[in-house]
Amino acid sequence: MLSRSEIQSFLTEHPDFDDISNGMRSAARFPNKALLKETRKVVALARKFNKEVVIPHALELDRKKQEEHDYLPWEFVQKANEWGFFTMWIPRFFGGRGCSFHSMFYFIEEIASQCLAMANLIGVHYLGAGALFCAWNIRVCNEIFREVAEGEKHEAPCLITAATTEPGAGTDCEETELLDKGTLTCRATRVDGGYRINGSKIFISNGHLSTWHNVVCYEDPERPSETAMLCLVKTGADGFSFGRQENKMGQLACPASELIFRDCFVPDRYVSMNNLQMSGLRGGEKGKTREILSQFFSASRLGVAAFGVGAARGAYQKALRFALNTEVSGKLLINHQWAQNILAEMYKNVASSRLSYIEGADVNGIEGMLRPVYNKPLFYIFKYYPFHWMKPIVNRMLESSLTTRIFRKLQLEWMTEDQLNRNAGWGALAKFMATDAGMKNSHLALELMGQAGVRHDREAEKIFRDAKLLQIYEGTNQLNRQCLFESFIGRHYPQVRVYEHES
Ligand SMILES: Cc1cc2nc3c(=O)[nH]c(=O)nc-3n(C[C@H](O)[C@H](O)[C@H](O)COP(=O)(O)OP(=O)(O)OC[C@H]3O[C@@H](n4cnc5c(N)ncnc54)[C@H](O)[C@@H]3O)c2cc1C
Repeated sequence: MLSRSEIQSFLTEHPDFDDISNGMRSAARFPNKALLKETRKVVALARKFNKEVVIPHALELDRKKQEEHDYLPWEFVQKANEWGFFTMWIPRFFGGRGCSFHSMFYFIEEIASQCLAMANLIGVHYLGAGALFCAWNIRVCNEIFREVAEGEKHEAPCLITAATTEPGAGTDCEETELLDKGTLTCRATRVDGGYRINGSKIFISNGHLSTWHNVVCYEDPERPSETAMLCLVKTGADGFSFGRQENKMGQLACPASELIFRDCFVPDRYVSMNNLQMSGLRGGEKGKTREILSQFFSASRLGVAAFGVGAARGAYQKALRFALNTEVSGKLLINHQWAQNILAEMYKNVASSRLSYIEGADVNGIEGMLRPVYNKPLFYIFKYYPFHWMKPIVNRMLESSLTTRIFRKLQLEWMTEDQLNRNAGWGALAKFMATDAGMKNSHLALELMGQAGVRHDREAEKIFRDAKLLQIYEGTNQLNRQCLFESFIGRHYPQVRVYEHES
């Protein structure tokens, strides 16, 4: 057998695939029984919601939006609010229902298997929540999440968006290395008591349906990676308006909106993060931007991966149903060997890409953005929060800037370079693997179904239109491949350059 020092030396000398133990490491750390119980409950709830709300309305909403461009699916938002889905994954001491992010990925996959647009409509609210979390401004989180909880109680849904994309910068906003190459215009100018924002954001999912918008802007758009900041703007604020809704090919029920800012004043209270607040943190301004962007995308890309698996599953289910009920050349399609091979391939695509987001979520829970919630005692506190008698004290702690400083130190200072890379790499891998699987399966479903596949009422063509969008948002799949290359391969070889302009 190898000695301890030999084991260490072989592991560090050959760093490729040194993360084979994510699942095993998480098994030791996570409250597995409680997570399993919660996940099963959440999946069952998603299936009930699919049966009662999603399946009966998915095609109808898709058609309605095609016929009436400005239509907004408020009835669906109300329903999701009634079922508690906008607070389900918000910790209890912020007023939410305290489920773990782990179960959210499974939930999203479940809804996405029946309708990607509706899954995005719920999921993208947590993209907004994630943007709030990643700045670790606990006071702001507390205020906004409590408003979401109040919105649930009073049947007035309060949704959150994350707005980074601008007319001149999409991919460039998704990687710190590219940020300085983009044409960014969303400028925040310091004024008495806050900032004035000018510029616009485009393709913001749920924009027209949301109450709060996490807007990434720049004090100096010529030096974005050093001057990036995160501001919260409320729908109805002076100087803020909605522009067009994009007329897109898929996920029609989830609007993609333009947000326009003309001298829009944001008081200091709603600045989640700026240079002043972050000064003194490791790595200077660029380091802070990189760490926050990387943490954000490594978690949010897992959510999009779950959408991808959902799409792959939905397509598989439509193809299977068709093959079980259709005769070709005198026998059921399912009894043709070539059809069985296609269905086996589709099943493999679902199962293997699902493993990628589970593995990614394991890494994230051990050492990424989700880390604070998977420590066993904290998991139970977040979930059950048994200290209601302490509410006034806890609220005062959440309001205190000291709490925010402690969280920022814990979350933005303690992550090593290796941990950042592992998280970014797994987020990217899961994202492009699962969304490619969604596209691949929706294509195979159309192939298997022939003319029936392109009929609107058979739903397979809708999955095809919806799935394509997954390969574009949360970083195009090309960008995610670059991110994996940089995180897992390029960094081991000094001669490698990533994100260089090609001549
Ligand atoms: C349905 C939908 C919903 C969306 N929701 C949101 C949202 O809620 N919030 C938000 O902020 N944004 C949102 N977006 C925007 C999305 O994040 C961007 O579309 C995405 O980042 C790609 O940017 P782009 O479309 O400007 O493409 P571009 O950046 O113009 O890229 C064009 C092509 O060049 C490739 N490319 C560019 N740079 C590189 C590079 N360095 N290396 C390799 N290839 C490269 C890209 O892969 C792509 O193929 C949404 C988009 C869609 C379609």
